[in-house]
Amino acid sequence: MSKLKISVALVAEQDVTVDVEAPVAELQPEGAPGVPLESVRVRGSLAKFEDGYMFRGEVSGTYHHACDRCLAAAEHPFSREVLWVFVEGSAVNFETQGEGQEGDIEPEDEDAPSVGVYSGNVVDLAPQTWEEVVLAVPLKFLCRPECAGLCPGCGANLNLESCRCAASKEPETAKPSNNGLQALAEMFPDLKPGPLEE
Ligand SMILES: [Zn+2]
Ligand SMILES: [Zn+2]
Repeated sequence: MSKLKISVALVAEQDVTVDVEAPVAELQPEGAPGVPLESVRVRGSLAKFEDGYMFRGEVSGTYHHACDRCLAAAEHPFSREVLWVFVEGSAVNFETQGEGQEGDIEPEDEDAPSVGVYSGNVVDLAPQTWEEVVLAVPLKFLCRPECAGLCPGCGANLNLESCRCAASKEPETAKPSNNGLQALAEMFPDLKPGPLEE
């Protein structure tokens, strides 16, 4: 059984301290696009809360991805404070409770807890953890904020070397085409470039 599944019998007696390193593959719902993360750490405590349970703690991990600019391996550690409320039975959450209108989606209220559902005798932290992992994926992966990236012309990694475009331009664009024409002229001496005459 996943270590993120916590028996409510334990919580009945006292708050349960959670410190779990869970493989992300275990959390990923079937068919969901993957995230560049091997495992995620969930730390905090699960306590009785009204008719349900409340988890307060932190979700953290490190994304590994190629830098969007220079393609070098990049790391992006993250850590998010979380507050999850679990109620028994059918799904209710703060988003659907609100009288929000379609097309009028407001950014999630940072203070509103995410609400999950538990049934039976187990609170499963996995769905909430997965949600955090997805939300924390950065829009851009950079090896460092000031990454200079690759030159679109010569492909040089501008963090490590200088652009070779200027050096390679002369022989490639100026000479070879001339050489080509000269070679053609030598092969066909009658076909001299110039005004055509009848
Ligand atoms: Zn980079
Ligand atoms: Zn270049």
